[in-house]
Amino acid sequence: MIGSVFTELPSSRSPLRMLLLPPISRWLSAFPLQNSNHFRCLVHPSSPTLHPRNSRTHSGMELRAVVSALEKLAPPSLAESWDNVGLLVEPSPPLIVRSMLLTNDLTEAVLEEALAKKADFILSYHPPIFKALKRLRSTGGWKERVIVKALEGRVAVYSPHTACDCVSGGVNDWLAKAIGPASVSPLSHSLSAQFPGAWAHQLEFSVGSETDLGSILAELNSLQGAAVHYHTARSSSGEQTRVSVNCTAPALTQTMQLLSRESAIYRTLQVLQLSKPPIPDAGPGRMCTLNDPVTIATAVQRIKTHLRLSHVRLALGAHCTLDSLVKSMAVCAGSGSSVLNGVTADLYLTGEMSHHEVLDAVAVGTSVVLCDHSNSERGFLSELREALTGQLQGKVEVQLSETDRDPLEIV
Ligand SMILES: [Zn+2]
Repeated sequence: MIGSVFTELPSSRSPLRMLLLPPISRWLSAFPLQNSNHFRCLVHPSSPTLHPRNSRTHSGMELRAVVSALEKLAPPSLAESWDNVGLLVEPSPPLIVRSMLLTNDLTEAVLEEALAKKADFILSYHPPIFKALKRLRSTGGWKERVIVKALEGRVAVYSPHTACDCVSGGVNDWLAKAIGPASVSPLSHSLSAQFPGAWAHQLEFSVGSETDLGSILAELNSLQGAAVHYHTARSSSGEQTRVSVNCTAPALTQTMQLLSRESAIYRTLQVLQLSKPPIPDAGPGRMCTLNDPVTIATAVQRIKTHLRLSHVRLALGAHCTLDSLVKSMAVCAGSGSSVLNGVTADLYLTGEMSHHEVLDAVAVGTSVVLCDHSNSERGFLSELREALTGQLQGKVEVQLSETDRDPLEIV
């Protein structure tokens, strides 16, 4: 029973408590070390395996083709506006990618591993370039050194980050599997990259019989990126023609210039901004409605098993015990507070939240499980490896980093 091994962190008044598992040997047998970095505190991983030229057995793909395949798996248009996704480091062409290394974070250790393994391409879930870099020096900070060495080693670097969070079958769908069978949907919806029919605006106006409608319609119909519809309607001021113009974003200015010439039209003109349609199965975070509710203790156990972690931190919601039922769980990979804030659920699962954000959640009866930032993301790379191997038609060797790990560990 998990309740029998529940302990509180000594000398801590944190709302978070640590759940300790039965003897670690059970975990070690359940999860072979080569598949997990989470036991690093117990057994140090061996240095990166050298693969001298074995990737040369793969025929390889041109860099642009690899980037296209990645963009199909997680379209960059799904990424948050503040993010920095896509191809971040591009050595001079031609670059044939034969070996790819997947990592959550591109640290100097991971870059050394990539160079030792003769990787041509690093997929780093987190973007190693986020804020603008004003210098690229081999003697600069660690991020500068990573980029300089990647370019010198002719290694391309790509980051999917929040595109991978939002896409159907991405990081958050992987994290949602932790709770077991459930119906899963995004907490909010990403918007389609395109307007239906490419129309970004709708302009509407009315004209009476005194206006030369024929010449206006002819001019509107001659515009690139505009489509005109009209119908006659009777109003208290007599018969009027109601005109509706759909136009693309680039055509808006020209359409407005044309219509503003006629003061009678301008007086009745309405300009509507059309919305891009939501994508039903894509967006940040996930809400999981369990097929069969489980206790908090069982939920925690399932989360540990899915994440291959010996410890997580738990904050029990107000009036909850380990035997309280979980019917719904909201998840957000990484740092989840901005996405989870205000979401009604029995349980939150995320990598990290601040002390005060945890207090806010438990005050309204929501329990919180935190597993440290990258532990809520890294496991997805195994699924991505499978998908990429197929997408790249086996022409590119796809490996998981052996040195990538969360910098925090329980000691
Ligand atoms: Zn993250």
